[in-house]
Amino acid sequence: MKLWELLEKIQSKLDYLTDNIELEEYSSIEEAINKAYLEKPEWNRVNNVVAIFADLADSTSISNRKIKRVYAKFLEYIGYPFVKINNEFDAEFIDIKGDGGIALFSGKYAEIKAFLSAETFKTFQEKYAKDYFKKYDVSYYLGIGIAKGDLLVKKIGQRGDKNYYVWAGNAINNAALVSKDLKRVKQNMTTIGVTEDIYHTLDTNTFRDYLIFSCGCPNSKKVKLWKEFTVSGESNFKYHLIESNWCEKHGEEYVRKVLEVIQKDD
Ligand SMILES: [Zn+2]
Repeated sequence: MKLWELLEKIQSKLDYLTDNIELEEYSSIEEAINKAYLEKPEWNRVNNVVAIFADLADSTSISNRKIKRVYAKFLEYIGYPFVKINNEFDAEFIDIKGDGGIALFSGKYAEIKAFLSAETFKTFQEKYAKDYFKKYDVSYYLGIGIAKGDLLVKKIGQRGDKNYYVWAGNAINNAALVSKDLKRVKQNMTTIGVTEDIYHTLDTNTFRDYLIFSCGCPNSKKVKLWKEFTVSGESNFKYHLIESNWCEKHGEEYVRKVLEVIQKDD
């Protein structure tokens, strides 16, 4: 291998980068992804994308300890349900990244669909996965962040089959930031955090009774299920956190009622 020649070639490939990154605007996630060609200098951008970012807590120390086989099972208990559930709620793009994943939604009700999906995934983690991992005395929980903003996508790599999509933009970055903070404020439980704007979309007359307040179980008292937090070190970045899972008695009915509203309008 000609070491310096290789490194200089890489450097000259990146010469086109200037102070500002160049953008090309798209109106749909699908189009932005399909038109992200290799070696295209621009990043493709879509506005108003809602991203879910889910990530396992403390995965480095888990994978370093002598429980590698349990960690491998974690990955399956995250990956398969993440894909299956987000697909069920019409995510337009889903990607698994090691011990977590991203799912992207757009259009009217993108916030609602993303939340229903995240809440369903969370319920699986808390009611099924956690139960399965009980026998291993390991801590297993995820932070699930949801945020809305622009999405930037680019294809990076070399020709042939060695190229990959990379993501930037506020939707994924802010969802990742919330996900990280959730694991700081609430340990030992999979939680969901949504940014202010997402929360305001859930907290409207149409959805408030199903998504903001409890069903009243177990003592017929309907309570607000969300608490407000601020991202550590970012005093302007507020988000709302929910700990509850779908109720065993009312969960299915609630999902159905919200989906009816969405589908009627489609
Ligand atoms: Zn209930």
